Amino acid sequence: MIFYKTAQEIEIMRESCLMVGRTHEAIVPYIKPGVKTVKLDQIAEEFIRDNGAEPGFKGYNGFPYTLCISMNEEVVHGMPSDREVKPGDLLSIDCGVLANEFYGDQAYTYCVGEVAPEVSQLLEVTKASLYKGIEQAVEGRRIGDICYAIQDYCEREHKFGVVRELVGHGIGRNLHESPDVPNYGKRGRGIKLKKGLVIAIEPMVNLGRKDIRQKDDGWTIYARDMKPSAHYEHTITIGKDKADILTTFEYLEAAIKSNPELSEIN
Ligand code: MG
Ligand code: MG
Repeated sequence: MIFYKTAQEIEIMRESCLMVGRTHEAIVPYIKPGVKTVKLDQIAEEFIRDNGAEPGFKGYNGFPYTLCISMNEEVVHGMPSDREVKPGDLLSIDCGVLANEFYGDQAYTYCVGEVAPEVSQLLEVTKASLYKGIEQAVEGRRIGDICYAIQDYCEREHKFGVVRELVGHGIGRNLHESPDVPNYGKRGRGIKLKKGLVIAIEPMVNLGRKDIRQKDDGWTIYARDMKPSAHYEHTITIGKDKADILTTFEYLEAAIKSNPELSEIN
C-alpha cells in the first residue's frame, strides 16, 4: 500500500530532510585522514539529538548506529568503527532523521584527497544519474521511467555496474515504504507517479561488476570484485512539471569546499 502525503505532510518532511542535509554538513569538517569513522557517527547523533530529532537508522532492524559509512568497495550499510580514514578513501555516508513523526533520508559519497580518474568519474556519473532519475519524477510518468533513466546512463553510457539487490523506496512515517524504486528497469512500467508520492531515489553504482556480497557483520554490502562503489541519495516528491527535491546537497557541498582534505566531485 502506498501512503500519499498531503501538502502539509510534505512540508513536515522537508524539515526532516533539511536536517539530514545539516547533519551531513556538521560531519564534513571532521572527514579527514586519521579520523575514526565512529567519531563521525557520534558527531551526527549528537547533532540530530541537539536539534530535537532522532537518528532514523539507529535501532532500525537492530542497526546500532546513526550513520551507515561504507568505504571504497563497500556499497551500503557499512558500520562505523575504529577504522581510520586514509588518503584516497571513498566514504559513502547515508543518514536518516526522524522528526515530527516523518523521516528524511540522504546519502553522499565523499572523496578523501586524490583518487584515480576512473574513480572520480564513477562518482560524477553516479551523482548525475541521481538527477537523471529525478528528472523523470513528474506526474503522469511511471516508476520504470526513473529506473530506466538511471540504469541507461550508468550502464549503457558509462559501463559501470548498477547494483540490483538494493533499491530506493517510498518514505514517510516509515523509513521504507512502498513503492520500491530500483536503479534498473524498463520505461513505461510500474505505478503511475502521482502528486503526494514521496520517494528516496538512491543509485548504488560499482566501478566494476554489479555483483555484491555481504560481510560477516551481517550488514555491510560490498562489491564482489572489490572495486570501488558510489552511492548518492535524495528524498523527493513528485511534481507537476518538475520534482521537488526535499533534501539538499547545498550545505554539505559548501562544507566540502572549506575542507582542504576532501576533493570536490561535480
Ligand atoms: Mg539512505
Ligand atoms: Mg534510502
